[in-house]
Amino acid sequence: MMGHTHALSGAAAWLLVAPGLVALPGLTALSGLTGDLTPIVANALSPAEVVAGALVCAGAAMLPDLDHPHATIAQTFGPATWVLSKAVNWASGGHRHATHSLVFAIAAGLGAHLLADRFPIGRDIVVILMIGLALRAVGIGIPGKTITSAMVNIGLTAMAFILLRSAHVGYLWLGFAITFGCLAHVVGDCLTERGCPVLWPLRHRWLLPWKIGIKTGRAFEIKILGPVLSVIVIGLFAARLMPSL
Ligand SMILES: [Zn+2]
Repeated sequence: MMGHTHALSGAAAWLLVAPGLVALPGLTALSGLTGDLTPIVANALSPAEVVAGALVCAGAAMLPDLDHPHATIAQTFGPATWVLSKAVNWASGGHRHATHSLVFAIAAGLGAHLLADRFPIGRDIVVILMIGLALRAVGIGIPGKTITSAMVNIGLTAMAFILLRSAHVGYLWLGFAITFGCLAHVVGDCLTERGCPVLWPLRHRWLLPWKIGIKTGRAFEIKILGPVLSVIVIGLFAARLMPSL
């Protein structure tokens, strides 16, 4: 599946599950563990947190494809993300292996939650990386201009991060958003003809029967799936941010 399809599905997944998160009783207990994280359970997610979550979840929906150093998202922050992508590719056993599984989705979310809980700087790095991946995936960047694209991405990501910071966004939900984003990616790739090793380390690939899986980058994805997902994301944003509509 193409990057922007994954990013849109990640944003849609977050906007669908976010209201349910605040109803989870376990989060109240979790909030007691946190240092300077703002609990999200007191009332509901603030509008800024809904937006931040959608951005983070969209970025996390790109995370599994960091196992592909030649993909455009590996150039998000120039050499920094390229080296990260090389490391992920090496550690995960190549493209569409360990990072396209339930184990990775849960480990990435748990890891982000624990990191955020203990080290605010680590949390900020994760949030910045996710925003950068999301912006790159939806097409921010100039084709053929790797360094310029990285600079534009760094600038826009920094602006988004500062705006979220000034809106006092709390990040207790960070781990959830990362896991949901990775899961949205895995589900998306299971709908393609190559499928994913969902239960990695088991090698079996999950994919649609009778070879009806989507062919990445073809007309159906570009002309139908992409626009439909865009409309869904815009509709969900409107529903979440303007509930009185
Ligand atoms: Zn993938």
